[in-house]
Amino acid sequence: MATNKAVIVVGAGTMGRGIAQVFAQSGYEVYLNDAIPKALDEGVAFIHKMIDRAAEKGAIQADQAQATKSRLHTIRTIGEAPACPLIIEAATERPDTKNEILKSAQSKLTDDGILATNTSSISITQLAAATKAPERFIGMHFFNPVPLMKLVEVVKGLQTSEDTVRKTIGYAESVGKTAVQCNDHPGFVSNRILMPMINEAIFCLQDGVAEPAAIDEIMKLGMNHPMGPLALADLIGLDVCLFILEVLHRDLGEDRYRPCPLLRKMVAAGRLGRKSRHGFLRYD
Ligand code: NAD
Repeated sequence: MATNKAVIVVGAGTMGRGIAQVFAQSGYEVYLNDAIPKALDEGVAFIHKMIDRAAEKGAIQADQAQATKSRLHTIRTIGEAPACPLIIEAATERPDTKNEILKSAQSKLTDDGILATNTSSISITQLAAATKAPERFIGMHFFNPVPLMKLVEVVKGLQTSEDTVRKTIGYAESVGKTAVQCNDHPGFVSNRILMPMINEAIFCLQDGVAEPAAIDEIMKLGMNHPMGPLALADLIGLDVCLFILEVLHRDLGEDRYRPCPLLRKMVAAGRLGRKSRHGFLRYD
């Protein structure tokens, strides 16, 4: 049965599990899906661990923790979910993957429902073009780790309606986030500024300017950044960073966005950062 406070989240990786957690904590029924059963199980186990930890610390009551867990439903296929007024796609950063998900997910939207993507870089306007209602398609760009990061970058595609923007800002605020709006352009605001900095830090490492820990320490203490660019790249995922830089390089057509060869090498070696326990730093 459709309810107003219900959301389908597609993708249970780094971002999808965080998005599912904040919506469940905010009273939404959450239907979480992943193409890989193991990823779905690990995603849910991770969310439960986070909720238990919050309860142990006294941040939430035991009954609240239980209620939050009971609002989290796993679905092996999107078809198992009821119709929902909001669907958030948070799967792998590949246009063909996302197009396929969006095409099948849209049948699960209520009549005036919103289809959102958490993409970091793929054009909202292009993804919207493959959907039945591009005016109700939007970028809802959460940040990592989702439960801690306040921002949602709300990205308006060329055909996104003002009503969709307004409702999406409302959804972001309903889960305790601050929504900031921007227009669809490669990398939006956040990654157009962040990724060149991360890429330059990787060039510094490749050129032997300093060791990883020194590069990060200089940026932390000298620029007052809460974490260094290499640690941040590891947190985001080096495959995700590479994909975003490729989009910036191709779509903006400027050499300054060219991904550092060392980044390509790391991804080819499967050193993807925290999620593979090995990136520029080790996570044993
Ligand atoms: P991830 O690799 O951790 O997780 C992606 C998940 O999507 C995997 O579990 C994978 O099995 C699943 N998936 C792949 N194809 C699927 C399909 N057809 N149906 C259902 N699930 C499928 O990636 P992530 O870091 O969580 O990134 C997800 C999205 O969020 C990407 O678009 C990324 O650009 C964006 N994003 C990432 C960050 C970050 O810091 N990692 C920040 C903001 C936005």
